[in-house]
Amino acid sequence: MIKNKTVSTLLAAVLLLSEPLVSSFAAGSQSGSPASPQQEGTYGQDADSEPDGSPSSGEHADERRAMVANQIEGRGVENSAVLEAMRAVPRHEFVSAAQQGQAYSDKPLPIGHGQTISQPYIVAYMTQMLQLEAGDKVLEIGTGSGYQAAVLAEITNRVYTIEIIEELAAQASECLQRLGYNEVRTSQGDGYYGWEEYAPFDAIIVTAAAGHIPPPLLRQLKPGGRMLIPVGGVYEVQSLMLVRKTPGGEVRTERLMPVRFVPFRGEAQQKSGK
Ligand code: SAH
Repeated sequence: MIKNKTVSTLLAAVLLLSEPLVSSFAAGSQSGSPASPQQEGTYGQDADSEPDGSPSSGEHADERRAMVANQIEGRGVENSAVLEAMRAVPRHEFVSAAQQGQAYSDKPLPIGHGQTISQPYIVAYMTQMLQLEAGDKVLEIGTGSGYQAAVLAEITNRVYTIEIIEELAAQASECLQRLGYNEVRTSQGDGYYGWEEYAPFDAIIVTAAAGHIPPPLLRQLKPGGRMLIPVGGVYEVQSLMLVRKTPGGEVRTERLMPVRFVPFRGEAQQKSGK
């Protein structure tokens, strides 16, 4: 358990964070051009030479290999389980037909309802920072398309994910089932409160930006556990925070990088930080 005092000190520290407004990874940059001409070349070539993917390792497997080599390994993500997961999950299945040509590009993609699926690098980076081991219990807040949940499910069979928008929750659940990610538990509701029934979790990943770290999520994190959460306002660049609970129950936070995620909805929007 964490003492209230520790929590308020932590929240005060988090609330003080602010970043200059610069364009970064997520929501705003959906206009269609890949991040660099070099990468654009690679993807164009793959798509042309093998439109249907390779039969032995699934559709678009070559595009996924290129995505991992160019966007992910190239930027320093090196955990082999994470790289394998990124090569395995068919990202194109999690976006609409209109977006499929862009599925392996170096950018976030719209998934409807004003929400986005994060850039592949961010998914890989956040997953690596969770330091998951097979069998770890992980909670995701913000199922969205279900893509991040599938990546987690490639590493551990205990994945729990909550989405606040009904239609997205239903679609993601259907998509995960169809692709064989049957062990992922999905739920529709406000993730601010976590998922008490299955707590505590070895790891928690929040994929929408909150104004503060929800105290229920902190409580549901195991001693020794890790939480990744973008913290900050809607129209500013947020900070991706790594929150660790020590075996003794103390909470340590570290600011990893500036990011831009879609805003947290529901309770966190209403509450001031208590
Ligand atoms: N992880 C997703 C992308 C998430 S986009 C993927 O891989 O596709 C962020 C998602 O968080 C959106 O779908 C949004 O509806 C959801 N969200 C926002 N606030 C939430 C809340 N309070 N509880 C649960 N989900 C929330």
